[in-house]
Amino acid sequence: MAEVRRVVGDLTNRAAHAVRHPVSTFLGWPVPRQATTGDLLGRGPAVTSPTTRGTTHRLADADRVARSVCPYCAVGCGQRVFVRDEKVIQIEGDLDSPISRGRLCPKGAASESLVNSPTRLTKVLHRRPHGTDWEHLDPDEAIDMIADRVVRDRRAHWQDVDDQQRPLRRTMGIASLGGATLDNEENYLIKKLFTALGAIQIENQARI
Ligand code: SF4
Repeated sequence: MAEVRRVVGDLTNRAAHAVRHPVSTFLGWPVPRQATTGDLLGRGPAVTSPTTRGTTHRLADADRVARSVCPYCAVGCGQRVFVRDEKVIQIEGDLDSPISRGRLCPKGAASESLVNSPTRLTKVLHRRPHGTDWEHLDPDEAIDMIADRVVRDRRAHWQDVDDQQRPLRRTMGIASLGGATLDNEENYLIKKLFTALGAIQIENQARI
């Protein structure tokens, strides 16, 4: 009932305005608006209300936009990362991406929550052998631990020749399993490094 009263009141006010200001009322009709604004096809200013004209893109006040690639899967959809005050405020599809042309699936469209989630892990976690809890490691210490293990296991499982003395020159002690966040350049470097180390078990989730 309240809505009916509101509509009736609105129509009454418009009718009263038309009686008092017939010329401006006529010029406000769609066809005169198209003629006076030059918007002959009625797809521009002639069909936008003051409210619409006052509307801005919700990310218009971003300081800058960075280009990136969705971190989730091997499709590699392009993303635009909107930044304000050095903080990521939104991530949307990149219209210029030849792969996705502005589209993101629901997972990629929720990438902003990956960046800003309060549960995001930002420290190196390590659980020692037989340990029951995770502990924080300094990143440099973690890198050193990984390097030590690579060298040790490469050496321990090195195969110079097979049973018939044919050359192998490989190690079965280390392997590489890449994830979706790796791009072509990173995968290229990983492949070179592990092949140079003698590893033959090298896999990745390659991007297009
Ligand atoms: S937006 Fe979806 S389909 Fe595209 S890369 Fe991300 S997860 Fe894959």
